[in-house]
Order: sequence, then structure tokens, then C-alpha cells
Amino acid sequence: MLQTTKRPDSPVSIIGAGIAGAWQALLFAQAGHAVTLHERGDAAMTDATSHWAGGMLAPWCEAEVAEPVISRLGLRSLDIWRRELPDTPFNGSLVVAHPRERNDFERFARMTGGHRRLDAAGLAELEPSLEGRFRDALFFPTEGHVEPRRVLPKLHERIKAAGGTIKFSSDVSAQDLQDVDGIVIDCRGLAARDEQPELRGVKGEMILIETGEVELSRPVRLIHPRWPLYVIPREQGLFMLGATSIEAEDTGVSVRSALELLGAAYAVHPAFGEARIVEFGSGLRPAFPDNLPRIGIRGSRISVNGLYRHGFLIAPALAELTLQYVQRGQIDNEVMQCA
Ligand SMILES: Cc1cc2nc3c(=O)[nH]c(=O)nc-3n(C[C@H](O)[C@H](O)[C@H](O)COP(=O)(O)OP(=O)(O)OC[C@H]3O[C@@H](n4cnc5c(N)ncnc54)[C@H](O)[C@@H]3O)c2cc1C
Repeated sequence: MLQTTKRPDSPVSIIGAGIAGAWQALLFAQAGHAVTLHERGDAAMTDATSHWAGGMLAPWCEAEVAEPVISRLGLRSLDIWRRELPDTPFNGSLVVAHPRERNDFERFARMTGGHRRLDAAGLAELEPSLEGRFRDALFFPTEGHVEPRRVLPKLHERIKAAGGTIKFSSDVSAQDLQDVDGIVIDCRGLAARDEQPELRGVKGEMILIETGEVELSRPVRLIHPRWPLYVIPREQGLFMLGATSIEAEDTGVSVRSALELLGAAYAVHPAFGEARIVEFGSGLRPAFPDNLPRIGIRGSRISVNGLYRHGFLIAPALAELTLQYVQRGQIDNEVMQCA
């Protein structure tokens, strides 16, 4: 149980309305807590890392490089996304490779599960725009994807509908809330470095392009020797190209990264060569040294951070674990650290 005098139905203040804080707020509000979500930015959320994300819900593909705990949290999160936002597209994901990356493609197949192989005809049936482009593909049918810039406002609406309050332009620290009665959940992402100095930012660059010449119904990953590069369809002919992963904390997009991202799109389909560039951008993924997420517990002060490259994939499950801790004292040894 909570190692404080707080009641299991205590009011809850959450700091940060990115994907981590939004899911915490939603599950706690639904469970009957009086929730106040503080966000220092405005409703457009352009300062949040979450604004720049691809939004892939891909626990099977991520297993190529991520620890098993990410798959566990990710698979649980898929159920929660389905339950809470049933219109989330679960069209699966595709992984393709050009002949020179054949060995890496086979390695990807070995390192991951939850997929089946498609031959060229099967791929064309699933994604007619890719007809004749690749000899085969891996299809991960149970994966999904969301558009972060649409899903965050949707989650914020759901929080309000569940009785929660959201305060934008509300810049607070856990210190500011120390006299507040109830539970404080710090979801400030990289800004929480004042209290968690081991956090670092891992830069991810993305490009948004627009074309009516290609239609895709699901994210397509292209095997690449350095980064998992992908093309994600958005609405109205938009496609997100992502994402680099660089140990740097500057902003902006380098020429080299732009070349690689645009090259990946062109390699998936040459018609992307005629697409219009809409936006270049980058975000800093909040990461601990082991690149694993952490729920830190100090009495009624809780922090949820280090979501790294998996925020959309794992935030619902992290929120569920936090709620289970507050309500029943349940500890998840893989993710929780109690002071
Ligand atoms: C290019 C790119 C692609 C990505 N693709 C994917 C993907 O496909 N799938 C996936 O699962 N993940 C992806 N990620 C990772 C994902 O974006 C992050 O894991 C996630 O956004 C981290 O969320 P967060 O809520 O912890 O932090 P943030 O989104 O940064 O939210 C923290 C919030 O706290 C607010 N805040 C900070 N300080 C205060 C304060 N004092 N008071 C009030 N509010 C405060 C900030 O304004 C911010 O809104 C990607 C990341 C990048 C950069």
C-alpha cells in the first residue's frame, strides 16, 4: 500500500500532459480520483517530445532491439488502447528490405515474433501501392499506430469527460505541489532532470511529406544498417518519415539525417520523390542510462519517466501499474523503484 497516510481515493496532481501524463490522468480519473493535470505548454503541445513521435504501437517490431519488458508493457498497452480508444487503427506493420540488406532482414525476422512472411503478391494485396517494389515482406498483423497530434487532444478530452481537470500554461514542479494534499505524479519527461539528473535526451528527427501518389494503410519499416527507418501514413496524403536516434540534445534536422530519411522514403516508393516537404522537426526522447522506463516511488510522490522511444507503446501499461500500486500496493519489480 502507499507508504503514507494518503487514502487510495486521494486527489491526484499530474505534471506534464505528454503521452505519459495523459494516460496516467485518464486511468486515475476513470478510477474515481479527483485528477488535475498540469501542463506548462498550451493545448497544441508543441514543446512535448510526444508531439514529434511516430506513434507506432509496435511491440513485436521493437523486440528486435528492446528488452523483453518493453514487449510485455507494449502488449498490455495494445489491449488498453483498444479498450479506451476503439477507433485506433490496428492494421499491422510491414517490414521490407532491399536485396543488399537481406541478411539484416533475416536477422530482424529471427529476433522478432508475431509476424508472417508475405511474398510479392501478398504484399501487393495488402498495400497495392507497393506492388512490384519488394520481393517479400514481414507482416506484423496485430500492431497499430496513432497520430500523436490527434490522439493527445483526444486523450485530453477523455480525461475531462472522466471528471479530470487540465490546466494548460501551468508550470509547476513537484516542490510547488509538496503541500498539496494527495498524490503527485511527475511526468515532465526530460524537464524532470532537476530531480532525476541521470535522464538524457536522445534526439529523433522526422520529416512530414505530402503526396497523393502513394497510399499506405500501415507503417512500413525499411531495414537500414543504422536506424529503424519508417514511413507512417497520416490523414490527407501526409506521411511521416522517421526517425533517427542520435546521442545529442540539439534541435533541428541535419542535412545528413534529412538525406537518409528522404532516401528511405524514396527507396520504399520512387513516387515519394515528387512529394512536397511539409515539415522538418525533432524531439528529445527522455531516457535513463539503461533506456528502460521507470516508475519511481517516494511515498505519495511518484515519477514516471524514461519512456525513451516507446512512449506511445507503453504509457497505458505504465499508467495501469501506477494505479494498481496506489489502489492495491502492487509492486512491479521490473519497472518500479521505491525509495
Ligand atoms: C522522432 C520521434 C519518433 C518517435 N516515435 C515513437 C513511436 O513511433 N512510438 C512510440 O511509442 N514512441 C515514439 N517516440 C518516443 C515518444 O515520443 C516518447 O517516449 C514520449 O513522447 C515521451 O513522453 P513523455 O510524456 O514522457 O514526455 P513529453 O512528451 O516530453 O511530455 C512531457 C510534458 O511535460 C511538460 N512539462 C515539463 N515541465 C513541466 C512543468 N514544470 N510543469 C508543467 N508541465 C511540464 C512538457 O511541456 C511536456 O508537455 C518517438 C520520439 C521521437 C522524438
